[in-house]
Amino acid sequence: MVKGSYNPYENAQAQFDRVAEMIGLDDATRQLLRQPMKEYHFTIPVRMDDGSTRIFNGYRIQHNTARGPAKGGIRFHPQETVDTVRALAMWMTWKCAVVDIPLGGGKGGVICDPRNLTESEQERLCRGYVRQLAKDVGPFIDVPAPDVMTNAKHMLWMLDEYETIYGARYPGFITGKPVGMGGSLGRTEATGYGVVYTLREALKEMGIKPENTSASIQGFGNVGQYAAKLYTELGGTVVAVCCWDNNDNKPYTYYKESGLDIEALKEMTDSFGGIDKDKARDLGCQIEPAGAWLEKDVDILIPAALENQINMDNVDKISEQVKIIAEGANGPVNKEADEVIRNRGIFVIPDFLANAGGVTCSYFEQVQSNTNYYWEKDEVLEKLDIKMTSAFKAVSELARNNNLYMRDAAYIISINRVAQAVKMRGWV
Ligand code: NAD
Repeated sequence: MVKGSYNPYENAQAQFDRVAEMIGLDDATRQLLRQPMKEYHFTIPVRMDDGSTRIFNGYRIQHNTARGPAKGGIRFHPQETVDTVRALAMWMTWKCAVVDIPLGGGKGGVICDPRNLTESEQERLCRGYVRQLAKDVGPFIDVPAPDVMTNAKHMLWMLDEYETIYGARYPGFITGKPVGMGGSLGRTEATGYGVVYTLREALKEMGIKPENTSASIQGFGNVGQYAAKLYTELGGTVVAVCCWDNNDNKPYTYYKESGLDIEALKEMTDSFGGIDKDKARDLGCQIEPAGAWLEKDVDILIPAALENQINMDNVDKISEQVKIIAEGANGPVNKEADEVIRNRGIFVIPDFLANAGGVTCSYFEQVQSNTNYYWEKDEVLEKLDIKMTSAFKAVSELARNNNLYMRDAAYIISINRVAQAVKMRGWV
């Protein structure tokens, strides 16, 4: 996940510092916001099915809670690092602020590879994670959610452990729960659809019809799949997706010039977003090296896998045809490559705006869970579209009126909102 000397936390801090300087943020607020307020580092002993015990390392980072309880996913990943979790927690603060929901920023992670753990080992790991944190998280403190390689099943195990510890039902403790067990309809689609709601608005502003565009997507998990689905429903053509092949244990690009059959690809994708390349070949896909997704002559790139995927090793390979990068993943572009992209004038929908649909729907889920009244799917998606569209318009208007890069404009809105909350509380 972390390539070479890339450090996502330094990347997140550099992005923050740049904008803090631009808006002349005072020193105390700057110090407060450029690092997390609280960090939990802990070990999780897990009894394995063979009777042995393995010790996993877990983290929960609460970056800022001035606007509301911390909110953010829990990742299971073999290359998870504390700095990755710090960066992601920080981005969550900006993400909740840019869509103007009353939540702060947090993130969690466990260094593990769930693909090598059985169901029952994963369950014990989830329960162990919550046992280490139960006092420091909760509906009014810090509300976790799924992220890379965690899903609704993991969330329900975590909820069950939390409720067992406290002896009552607290469905608002965690989001991304299964529908019917406190989950919200539309949550599965929310992040990917949110990416495309903002993309649709960007195309509208540029006077381009979606049906005249093509896209290449990195990552075909939760975000990539639903972004691809809605984008093709709007008339766009996805020519390439890049994701993991579990047999070879490495990623490939699956390419079809006339457009991929997204539904068929989705059908054959495993629960971790991996595709069996032999089956993909049967669908008429060309199997190409992982990096090929970035080099395609398309109008739109949607990085929706992991951070640091566009960097100085490959940024120059982006085709002249690319007009928009919609960042589905968190931190997919490192800071040096971001400068190249900015100078090239490619329109970027920054990660914490583009992928805010997930947390916005999580907020809707929390509202539904806390009131014990659940909305219809259309209602959820309609509310999501309204939130994402108005957040996009506010950022693009600020960018247009002040000749700003989209990422800077989004940061200015978020940092100002959080700084105001911090000041109103009298923290600085
Ligand atoms: P996921 O685990 O469902 O899917 C990840 C996808 O990326 C899979 O298809 C996997 O095969 C692919 N992948 C992993 N490593 C790769 C590599 N080195 N090269 C190419 N492909 C690779 O995860 P997700 O939930 O879709 O999340 C993707 C990104 O979006 C992450 O950065 C995550 O933090 C971010 N995000 C997710 C949500 C959400 O609601 N799921 C919300 C906001 C942001």
